[in-house]
Amino acid sequence: MTSYKELGLVNTREMFAKAVAGGYAIPAFNFNTLEQMQAIVQAAVETKSPVIMQVSKGARNYANGTILRYMAQGAVEYAKELGCENPQIVLHLDHGDSFELCKDCIDNGFSSVMIDGSALPYEENIALTKKVVEYAHKYDVTVEAELGVLAGVEDEVASEVSHYTKPEEVEDFSKRSGCDSLAISIGTSHGAYKFTPEQCTRDPKTGKLVPPPLAFDILHEIEKRLPGFPIVLHGSSSVPQDEVDTINAHGGKLPDAVGIPEEQLREASKSAVCKINIDSDSRLAMTAAIRKHFDEKPGDFDPRQYLKPARENMKKMYMHKIIDVLGSNDKL
Ligand SMILES: [Zn+2]
Repeated sequence: MTSYKELGLVNTREMFAKAVAGGYAIPAFNFNTLEQMQAIVQAAVETKSPVIMQVSKGARNYANGTILRYMAQGAVEYAKELGCENPQIVLHLDHGDSFELCKDCIDNGFSSVMIDGSALPYEENIALTKKVVEYAHKYDVTVEAELGVLAGVEDEVASEVSHYTKPEEVEDFSKRSGCDSLAISIGTSHGAYKFTPEQCTRDPKTGKLVPPPLAFDILHEIEKRLPGFPIVLHGSSSVPQDEVDTINAHGGKLPDAVGIPEEQLREASKSAVCKINIDSDSRLAMTAAIRKHFDEKPGDFDPRQYLKPARENMKKMYMHKIIDVLGSNDKL
């Protein structure tokens, strides 16, 4: 058993309470690689932001759970080395799909886990979430649950259609499951293709897709029923069109990739939404920088030559999200 406290990590309880009260949201960035981790820590330190570093089941399979745990510990030490006296870093399991996986993460240094029972019947979702909460709380680990289903694809999580969260279920669910935060479905979606062209309108000037708006009425109804309770948005990458254009201009093929407009995420951040998940934007920033580099400098073959600009581009994106979208800067 390795407690996250030994690694210098924190759980989400205090950071969410402050974020809800302060009208901002904590960034939850997915990571699998050294360069992503470095960029996340640099961005968080330079902006003085708390940060959630999250790992999906797929990331654990890709990078190895033990390595990721030491990377999180390294992130804390690195943040201190960069001058942050009291880093607020969470290591979170994204989309845990079983009690066993959540337990394994809790036993191995995670400070927060998500149990995603959203595909299960309502009562089974409550029972599974409750089982994870009972184990997690023994070790002061916080638990995120999910009600409602997001469309899109994220690692092993895939659904063709979205089902909005039913506001009339949230009080009963949070009370009986004991979860610390709740991921809801109000029209965000996983991946870089969040909406089909049929679901969008097209900007007549740019020809780019304009996605349908988020269901703020559902969010506000949930806030009314659960005052002050931490709400989480998954699938909240914006799929920056300049990165998509760079990728497509340098041999890539991402036609009609579309995300959630940042103005809507900025508005959500001011509400009870206190955690916003961003994964695809990091993938796009990395890929755009690497494709551009390969195209312009075909003779380069030292990975540092192209991973350095990739890391810088991700850091720029993370800082932009923290300062201009979530408002979590200057909170340490
Ligand atoms: Zn998700």
